[in-house]
Amino acid sequence: MTQKRALVCGAGGFIAYHLVKRLKDEGYWVRGADIKEPLFGATHADDFLVADLTQVENAIKALALPDNEPFDEVYQLAANMGGMGFISTHASEIMRDSSLINLHILEQARKTGAKKILFTSSACIYPEHNQKDPENPKCAEETAYPAAPDTEYGWEKIYAERLYQAFAKDYGMDTRVVRLHNVFGPLGTWQGGREKAPAALCRKVAEAQDGGTVEVWGRGDQTRSFLYIDECIEGIRRVMNGPAGLPVLNLGSEENIPINELTQMIAEIANKRIEIKNVEGPEGVRGRTSDNFLLQEKLGWQPSQSLKDGLKKLYPWIQQQVALRAIARGLFVNRQTTPQK
Ligand code: NAD
Repeated sequence: MTQKRALVCGAGGFIAYHLVKRLKDEGYWVRGADIKEPLFGATHADDFLVADLTQVENAIKALALPDNEPFDEVYQLAANMGGMGFISTHASEIMRDSSLINLHILEQARKTGAKKILFTSSACIYPEHNQKDPENPKCAEETAYPAAPDTEYGWEKIYAERLYQAFAKDYGMDTRVVRLHNVFGPLGTWQGGREKAPAALCRKVAEAQDGGTVEVWGRGDQTRSFLYIDECIEGIRRVMNGPAGLPVLNLGSEENIPINELTQMIAEIANKRIEIKNVEGPEGVRGRTSDNFLLQEKLGWQPSQSLKDGLKKLYPWIQQQVALRAIARGLFVNRQTTPQK
Protein backbone atom coordinates (compact mmCIF):
# COMPACT_ATOMS: atom_id res chain seq x y z
CA MET A 1 0.00 0.00 0.00
CA THR A 2 1.39 3.45 -0.85
CA GLN A 3 2.03 5.84 2.01
CA LYS A 4 -0.77 8.38 2.47
CA ARG A 5 0.22 12.05 2.38
CA ALA A 6 -1.33 14.73 4.57
CA LEU A 7 -0.98 18.51 4.77
CA VAL A 8 -1.57 20.01 8.23
CA CYS A 9 -2.04 23.80 8.17
CA GLY A 10 -1.37 25.54 11.48
CA ALA A 11 1.15 22.83 12.45
CA GLY A 12 3.12 25.34 14.53
CA GLY A 13 0.13 25.53 16.88
CA PHE A 14 -1.32 23.47 19.66
CA ILE A 15 -3.91 21.09 18.15
CA ALA A 16 -2.10 20.63 14.85
CA TYR A 17 1.15 19.73 16.65
CA HIS A 18 -0.63 16.78 18.26
CA LEU A 19 -2.39 15.93 14.99
CA VAL A 20 0.92 15.76 13.09
CA LYS A 21 2.30 13.40 15.73
CA ARG A 22 -0.77 11.19 15.49
CA LEU A 23 -0.58 11.04 11.68
CA LYS A 24 3.11 10.14 11.84
CA ASP A 25 2.31 7.38 14.36
CA GLU A 26 -0.24 6.08 11.85
CA GLY A 27 2.41 5.95 9.10
CA TYR A 28 1.54 9.03 7.04
CA TRP A 29 3.98 11.30 5.21
CA VAL A 30 3.15 14.72 6.65
CA ARG A 31 3.83 18.29 5.61
CA GLY A 32 3.20 20.93 8.26
CA ALA A 33 2.67 24.59 7.38
CA ASP A 34 2.53 27.61 9.65
CA ILE A 35 3.53 31.26 9.77
CA LYS A 36 5.74 30.44 12.72
CA GLU A 37 8.31 27.76 13.51
CA PRO A 38 6.98 24.56 15.13
CA LEU A 39 6.33 24.66 18.89
CA PHE A 40 9.60 24.50 20.83
CA GLY A 41 11.39 24.22 17.46
CA ALA A 42 10.33 20.58 17.17
CA THR A 43 7.94 18.85 14.78
CA HIS A 44 7.19 15.27 13.86
CA ALA A 45 6.42 16.37 10.28
CA ASP A 46 8.54 15.10 7.38
CA ASP A 47 8.48 18.55 5.83
CA PHE A 48 7.65 21.93 7.41
CA LEU A 49 6.80 25.06 5.46
CA VAL A 50 7.18 28.30 7.42
CA ALA A 51 4.98 30.69 5.43
CA ASP A 52 2.13 33.15 5.74
CA LEU A 53 -0.88 31.29 4.36
CA THR A 54 -2.86 34.51 3.87
CA GLN A 55 -0.66 34.88 0.76
CA VAL A 56 -1.87 32.87 -2.23
CA GLU A 57 1.66 32.01 -3.40
CA ASN A 58 2.30 30.29 -0.05
CA ALA A 59 -0.95 28.34 -0.23
CA ILE A 60 0.19 27.16 -3.68
CA LYS A 61 3.53 26.00 -2.19
CA ALA A 62 1.75 24.26 0.70
CA LEU A 63 -0.45 22.18 -1.63
CA ALA A 64 2.26 21.38 -4.19
CA LEU A 65 3.92 17.96 -4.04
CA PRO A 66 7.09 17.17 -6.03
CA ASP A 67 5.34 14.49 -8.12
CA ASN A 68 2.36 16.80 -8.80
CA GLU A 69 0.01 14.25 -7.25
CA PRO A 70 -2.72 15.53 -4.85
CA PHE A 71 -2.63 15.24 -1.07
CA ASP A 72 -4.77 12.41 0.29
CA GLU A 73 -5.84 14.53 3.27
CA VAL A 74 -5.67 18.23 4.10
CA TYR A 75 -6.35 19.52 7.62
CA GLN A 76 -7.02 23.27 7.69
CA LEU A 77 -6.38 24.37 11.29
CA ALA A 78 -4.41 27.57 10.66
CA ALA A 79 -6.20 30.58 12.13
CA ASN A 80 -5.45 33.85 13.84
CA MET A 81 -7.08 33.14 17.18
CA GLY A 82 -6.87 33.02 20.98
CA GLY A 83 -8.99 33.05 24.13
CA MET A 84 -11.76 35.56 24.95
CA GLY A 85 -9.26 38.30 25.86
CA PHE A 86 -7.70 38.10 22.40
CA ILE A 87 -10.73 37.51 20.20
CA SER A 88 -12.75 40.29 21.83
CA THR A 89 -10.04 42.85 20.93
CA HIS A 90 -8.63 41.68 17.56
CA ALA A 91 -11.75 41.30 15.40
CA SER A 92 -10.52 42.75 12.12
CA GLU A 93 -7.20 40.90 11.96
CA ILE A 94 -8.92 37.63 12.91
CA MET A 95 -11.55 38.04 10.17
CA ARG A 96 -9.02 39.18 7.55
CA ASP A 97 -6.31 36.57 8.20
CA SER A 98 -8.49 33.53 8.82
CA SER A 99 -10.84 34.15 5.88
CA LEU A 100 -7.87 34.62 3.52
CA ILE A 101 -6.23 31.41 4.77
CA ASN A 102 -9.47 29.44 4.47
CA LEU A 103 -10.14 30.68 0.95
CA HIS A 104 -6.62 30.14 -0.41
CA ILE A 105 -6.13 26.69 1.10
CA LEU A 106 -9.54 25.47 -0.07
CA GLU A 107 -9.08 26.87 -3.57
CA GLN A 108 -5.60 25.31 -3.92
CA ALA A 109 -6.95 22.02 -2.56
CA ARG A 110 -9.59 22.19 -5.32
CA LYS A 111 -7.09 23.07 -8.03
CA THR A 112 -4.67 20.31 -7.03
CA GLY A 113 -7.42 17.72 -6.57
CA ALA A 114 -6.86 17.06 -2.83
CA LYS A 115 -8.91 13.98 -1.98
CA LYS A 116 -10.33 15.20 1.37
CA ILE A 117 -10.14 18.42 3.35
CA LEU A 118 -11.18 18.97 6.97
CA PHE A 119 -11.83 22.39 8.49
CA THR A 120 -11.89 23.12 12.22
CA SER A 121 -14.77 25.43 13.02
CA SER A 122 -15.71 26.43 16.55
CA ALA A 123 -18.44 26.41 19.19
CA CYS A 124 -18.18 30.20 18.88
CA ILE A 125 -20.55 30.06 15.89
CA TYR A 126 -23.57 29.36 18.13
CA PRO A 127 -26.09 32.19 18.64
CA GLU A 128 -25.69 34.22 21.78
CA HIS A 129 -29.44 34.10 22.55
CA ASN A 130 -29.28 30.29 23.01
CA GLN A 131 -26.45 30.60 25.54
CA LYS A 132 -27.93 32.97 28.09
CA ASP A 133 -28.73 30.30 30.70
CA PRO A 134 -25.46 28.92 32.17
CA GLU A 135 -27.30 25.75 33.27
CA ASN A 136 -28.91 25.02 29.93
CA PRO A 137 -27.05 26.29 26.85
CA LYS A 138 -28.35 25.04 23.49
CA CYS A 139 -25.57 24.00 21.13
CA ALA A 140 -27.04 21.22 18.96
CA GLU A 141 -25.76 21.61 15.40
CA GLU A 142 -29.07 22.74 13.89
CA THR A 143 -29.39 25.63 16.39
CA ALA A 144 -26.59 27.46 14.52
CA TYR A 145 -29.26 29.18 12.37
CA PRO A 146 -30.50 31.89 12.20
CA ALA A 147 -26.86 32.79 12.84
CA ALA A 148 -26.02 35.26 15.63
CA PRO A 149 -22.53 34.52 17.05
CA ASP A 150 -21.37 36.86 19.83
CA THR A 151 -17.89 37.47 18.31
CA GLU A 152 -16.44 38.27 14.88
CA TYR A 153 -14.27 35.16 15.33
CA GLY A 154 -17.54 33.17 15.34
CA TRP A 155 -18.82 35.00 12.25
CA GLU A 156 -15.63 34.22 10.33
CA LYS A 157 -15.94 30.55 11.31
CA ILE A 158 -19.56 30.28 10.17
CA TYR A 159 -18.68 31.98 6.89
CA ALA A 160 -15.83 29.46 6.43
CA GLU A 161 -18.13 26.51 7.22
CA ARG A 162 -20.42 27.67 4.42
CA LEU A 163 -17.47 28.20 2.09
CA TYR A 164 -16.33 24.59 2.60
CA GLN A 165 -19.89 23.32 2.14
CA ALA A 166 -20.35 25.38 -1.03
CA PHE A 167 -17.16 23.90 -2.55
CA ALA A 168 -18.44 20.42 -1.71
CA LYS A 169 -21.77 21.13 -3.40
CA ASP A 170 -20.52 22.98 -6.46
CA TYR A 171 -17.22 21.18 -7.15
CA GLY A 172 -17.92 17.75 -5.66
CA MET A 173 -15.08 18.15 -3.17
CA ASP A 174 -14.95 15.93 -0.07
CA THR A 175 -14.97 18.58 2.67
CA ARG A 176 -15.54 17.91 6.37
CA VAL A 177 -16.26 20.39 9.16
CA VAL A 178 -15.99 19.95 12.94
CA ARG A 179 -17.03 22.52 15.54
CA LEU A 180 -14.45 22.21 18.31
CA HIS A 181 -15.44 23.11 21.87
CA ASN A 182 -12.59 24.49 24.07
CA VAL A 183 -9.68 22.12 23.59
CA PHE A 184 -7.02 21.94 26.30
CA GLY A 185 -3.86 20.02 27.14
CA PRO A 186 -0.08 20.21 27.25
CA LEU A 187 1.67 22.42 24.65
CA GLY A 188 -1.33 24.79 24.37
CA THR A 189 -0.77 28.54 24.74
CA TRP A 190 -0.55 29.28 28.48
CA GLN A 191 0.61 32.92 28.66
CA GLY A 192 0.85 36.06 26.54
CA GLY A 193 -2.84 36.89 26.03
CA ARG A 194 -3.98 34.17 23.58
CA GLU A 195 -4.39 31.44 26.23
CA LYS A 196 -7.80 29.96 27.03
CA ALA A 197 -9.44 29.43 30.41
CA PRO A 198 -7.98 26.03 31.52
CA ALA A 199 -4.39 27.04 30.70
CA ALA A 200 -4.80 30.57 32.10
CA LEU A 201 -6.31 29.28 35.34
CA CYS A 202 -3.67 26.55 35.72
CA ARG A 203 -1.02 29.27 35.32
CA LYS A 204 -2.68 31.53 37.88
CA VAL A 205 -3.00 28.67 40.36
CA ALA A 206 0.63 27.64 39.75
CA GLU A 207 1.74 31.24 40.41
CA ALA A 208 -0.42 31.60 43.57
CA GLN A 209 0.82 30.88 47.08
CA ASP A 210 -1.03 28.30 49.17
CA GLY A 211 -3.86 30.37 50.72
CA GLY A 212 -3.44 33.06 48.02
CA THR A 213 -5.93 34.73 45.69
CA VAL A 214 -6.68 33.87 42.07
CA GLU A 215 -8.43 36.37 39.80
CA VAL A 216 -11.16 34.98 37.56
CA TRP A 217 -12.76 37.04 34.78
CA GLY A 218 -16.49 37.73 34.98
CA ARG A 219 -19.01 36.55 37.52
CA GLY A 220 -17.54 33.05 37.64
CA ASP A 221 -20.88 31.29 37.22
CA GLN A 222 -20.54 31.29 33.41
CA THR A 223 -20.24 27.67 32.26
CA ARG A 224 -18.12 25.91 29.65
CA SER A 225 -17.13 22.37 28.71
CA PHE A 226 -13.54 21.43 27.83
CA LEU A 227 -12.19 18.73 25.54
CA TYR A 228 -8.87 17.05 26.29
CA ILE A 229 -6.45 17.17 23.34
CA ASP A 230 -6.15 13.37 22.88
CA GLU A 231 -9.90 13.04 22.42
CA CYS A 232 -9.93 16.03 20.07
CA ILE A 233 -7.35 14.31 17.84
CA GLU A 234 -9.24 11.01 18.03
CA GLY A 235 -12.42 12.83 16.97
CA ILE A 236 -10.71 14.65 14.09
CA ARG A 237 -9.30 11.37 12.79
CA ARG A 238 -12.69 9.67 13.10
CA VAL A 239 -14.39 12.48 11.18
CA MET A 240 -11.74 12.29 8.44
CA ASN A 241 -12.10 8.50 8.25
CA GLY A 242 -15.90 8.59 8.42
CA PRO A 243 -18.22 8.35 5.40
CA ALA A 244 -18.34 11.16 2.83
CA GLY A 245 -21.19 13.63 3.17
CA LEU A 246 -21.15 13.90 6.97
CA PRO A 247 -22.99 16.97 8.28
CA VAL A 248 -21.13 19.60 10.31
CA LEU A 249 -20.47 17.95 13.68
CA ASN A 250 -19.78 19.19 17.20
CA LEU A 251 -16.64 17.78 18.78
CA GLY A 252 -16.48 18.56 22.47
CA SER A 253 -17.22 17.40 25.97
CA GLU A 254 -20.69 17.51 27.51
CA GLU A 255 -19.27 17.98 31.04
CA ASN A 256 -20.36 21.54 31.71
CA ILE A 257 -18.77 23.43 34.61
CA PRO A 258 -18.92 26.99 36.04
CA ILE A 259 -15.56 28.75 35.69
CA ASN A 260 -15.19 29.29 39.45
CA GLU A 261 -15.67 25.54 39.99
CA LEU A 262 -13.09 24.82 37.30
CA THR A 263 -10.66 27.07 39.20
CA GLN A 264 -11.29 25.21 42.46
CA MET A 265 -10.85 21.87 40.68
CA ILE A 266 -7.41 23.01 39.47
CA ALA A 267 -6.50 24.24 42.98
CA GLU A 268 -7.45 20.83 44.37
CA ILE A 269 -5.18 19.12 41.82
CA ALA A 270 -2.41 21.57 42.77
CA ASN A 271 -3.07 20.81 46.44
CA LYS A 272 -3.48 24.53 47.22
CA ARG A 273 -6.17 26.43 49.11
CA ILE A 274 -7.12 29.52 47.12
CA GLU A 275 -9.56 32.45 47.33
CA ILE A 276 -11.29 33.35 44.06
CA LYS A 277 -11.65 37.03 43.25
CA ASN A 278 -14.06 37.62 40.37
CA VAL A 279 -12.88 40.65 38.42
CA GLU A 280 -14.14 42.53 35.40
CA GLY A 281 -13.05 40.89 32.15
CA PRO A 282 -14.42 39.42 28.92
CA GLU A 283 -16.76 36.65 30.03
CA GLY A 284 -18.22 35.59 26.67
CA VAL A 285 -21.61 33.91 26.57
CA ARG A 286 -23.22 32.85 29.86
CA GLY A 287 -23.09 29.13 29.10
CA ARG A 288 -21.69 26.87 26.38
CA THR A 289 -21.29 23.12 26.12
CA SER A 290 -21.09 20.53 23.39
CA ASP A 291 -24.13 18.53 22.31
CA ASN A 292 -22.79 15.22 20.99
CA PHE A 293 -26.04 13.57 19.94
CA LEU A 294 -25.30 13.88 16.22
CA LEU A 295 -21.63 12.93 16.61
CA GLN A 296 -22.65 9.75 18.44
CA GLU A 297 -25.36 8.99 15.88
CA LYS A 298 -23.11 9.50 12.84
CA LEU A 299 -19.85 8.00 14.13
CA GLY A 300 -20.93 5.77 17.03
CA TRP A 301 -18.39 7.53 19.24
CA GLN A 302 -18.04 10.59 21.46
CA PRO A 303 -15.46 11.89 23.96
CA SER A 304 -15.75 10.32 27.39
CA GLN A 305 -12.74 11.41 29.48
CA SER A 306 -13.53 13.41 32.62
CA LEU A 307 -12.40 17.02 32.85
CA LYS A 308 -10.51 16.24 36.04
CA ASP A 309 -8.46 13.50 34.39
CA GLY A 310 -7.47 15.93 31.65
CA LEU A 311 -6.56 18.68 34.11
CA LYS A 312 -4.39 16.22 36.03
CA LYS A 313 -2.27 15.99 32.87
CA LEU A 314 -2.35 19.70 32.02
CA TYR A 315 -1.56 21.17 35.46
CA PRO A 316 1.90 19.56 35.94
CA TRP A 317 2.92 20.71 32.47
CA ILE A 318 1.89 24.33 33.17
CA GLN A 319 3.50 24.21 36.61
CA GLN A 320 6.73 23.16 34.90
CA GLN A 321 6.47 26.02 32.36
CA VAL A 322 5.92 28.53 35.18
CA ALA A 323 8.99 27.17 37.00
CA LEU A 324 11.14 27.27 33.85
CA ARG A 325 10.01 30.84 33.15
CA ALA A 326 11.00 31.85 36.69
CA ILE A 327 14.47 30.33 36.20
CA ALA A 328 14.86 32.07 32.83
CA ARG A 329 13.79 35.41 34.30
CA GLY A 330 16.25 34.96 37.17
CA LEU A 331 19.08 34.30 34.72
CA PHE A 332 18.09 37.31 32.65
CA VAL A 333 17.83 39.65 35.66
CA ASN A 334 21.21 38.43 36.97
CA ARG A 335 22.83 39.12 33.62
CA GLN A 336 21.33 42.60 33.49
CA THR A 337 22.38 43.55 37.02
CA THR A 338 25.88 42.04 37.14
CA PRO A 339 28.23 45.06 37.20
CA GLN A 340 30.68 45.16 34.30
CA LYS A 341 34.35 45.04 35.28
P1 NAD B 1 -3.19 27.78 17.70
O1 NAD B 1 -3.25 29.27 17.73
O2 NAD B 1 -2.28 27.09 18.62
O3 NAD B 1 -2.90 27.28 16.22
C1 NAD B 1 -3.24 28.02 15.07
C2 NAD B 1 -2.00 28.15 14.23
O4 NAD B 1 -2.33 28.89 13.05
C3 NAD B 1 -0.87 28.91 14.95
O5 NAD B 1 0.30 28.12 15.07
C4 NAD B 1 -0.65 30.11 14.07
O6 NAD B 1 0.72 30.53 13.98
C5 NAD B 1 -1.17 29.63 12.72
N1 NAD B 1 -1.43 30.76 11.86
C6 NAD B 1 -2.02 31.94 12.19
N2 NAD B 1 -1.97 32.79 11.18
C7 NAD B 1 -1.33 32.14 10.17
C8 NAD B 1 -0.95 32.51 8.85
N3 NAD B 1 -1.23 33.72 8.37
N4 NAD B 1 -0.29 31.60 8.09
C9 NAD B 1 0.02 30.36 8.58
N5 NAD B 1 -0.31 29.97 9.82
C10 NAD B 1 -0.98 30.84 10.60
O7 NAD B 1 -4.71 27.30 17.89
P2 NAD B 1 -5.29 25.85 18.17
O8 NAD B 1 -5.91 25.92 19.53
O9 NAD B 1 -4.31 24.80 17.87
O10 NAD B 1 -6.49 25.83 17.11
C11 NAD B 1 -6.39 25.16 15.85
C12 NAD B 1 -7.68 25.37 15.08
O11 NAD B 1 -8.80 24.89 15.85
C13 NAD B 1 -7.98 26.84 14.77
O12 NAD B 1 -8.59 26.92 13.50
C14 NAD B 1 -9.00 27.22 15.82
O13 NAD B 1 -9.83 28.28 15.41
C15 NAD B 1 -9.77 25.92 15.97
N6 NAD B 1 -10.42 25.82 17.29
C16 NAD B 1 -9.67 25.68 18.42
C17 NAD B 1 -10.30 25.61 19.65
C18 NAD B 1 -9.51 25.44 20.92
O14 NAD B 1 -10.13 25.34 21.97
N7 NAD B 1 -8.19 25.40 20.90
C19 NAD B 1 -11.70 25.67 19.73
C20 NAD B 1 -12.43 25.84 18.55
C21 NAD B 1 -11.79 25.89 17.33
